[in-house]
Amino acid sequence: MQSTSYKLGRFFLCRLKHDSKLTRSIVNFAREKRVKMAFFTVVGAVKQARLAYYDQVEHEYQKIKLDQPLEIANCFGNLSLKDGKPFTHVHAVLVNKAGKTYAGHMIGATVFAAELHFQELLGKKLEREYDQTTGLALWEFGGL
Ligand code: ZN
Repeated sequence: MQSTSYKLGRFFLCRLKHDSKLTRSIVNFAREKRVKMAFFTVVGAVKQARLAYYDQVEHEYQKIKLDQPLEIANCFGNLSLKDGKPFTHVHAVLVNKAGKTYAGHMIGATVFAAELHFQELLGKKLEREYDQTTGLALWEFGGL
């Protein structure tokens, strides 16, 4: 296992704008506040969402289009750097009006109303790099 330790930085509570893009808003917020690493949760509701399931054999994301209003039952993510820029990795569990749940890797969603709890982490910059074994951009701790 590779790891490194971080200190807690600023903690933000934020209200995302109606009709904004969930993941893009978080990246923009990180840029604005000059945050390089963070983890966060989101509660609220979205108007539509795109989730994905990563096919471990084909090394491809299979997209799940959800064109309906959904509650965010759980949404958790982290922010690190990819190609030197803030990059989010977000997973979510979403629920429709019938109580049916959808879960997976979040590509994006349009906010109806959402609250963001955002914890900045201070320490060594954490970059994502392409990993041949999985085909994913994974955290690279620099030979630890
Ligand atoms: Zn993922």
